[in-house]
Amino acid sequence: MTDENFNDKERRCPRLGSVIPFRYCIISGDNDLPCWKILDCWWEMFDVEGYLKQNLPETVFNELIKIAEKPKNKVSSIIEIAQQVQKGK
Ligand code: SF4
Repeated sequence: MTDENFNDKERRCPRLGSVIPFRYCIISGDNDLPCWKILDCWWEMFDVEGYLKQNLPETVFNELIKIAEKPKNKVSSIIEIAQQVQKGK
């Protein structure tokens, strides 16, 4: 793993519609865990799976992989977006 700091990398969030840093994605899931879309959103920018595997507890990483593989229905996604907006207020 490289020493590069990924926390300041930015991209447009498909859920929030604004540009956000990677450090937000790391804590924006339930219970301050990474967002369930983190692998999907960042794989083109860097080896996000390798980074998370090295930096998260194994159980958290494995849970994230399981969650990321589950298809979400639209209602769940809308509820999550509404929760994120409320958190931001
Ligand atoms: S990982 Fe989640 S919070 Fe981060 S850009 Fe993707 S959808 Fe947005």
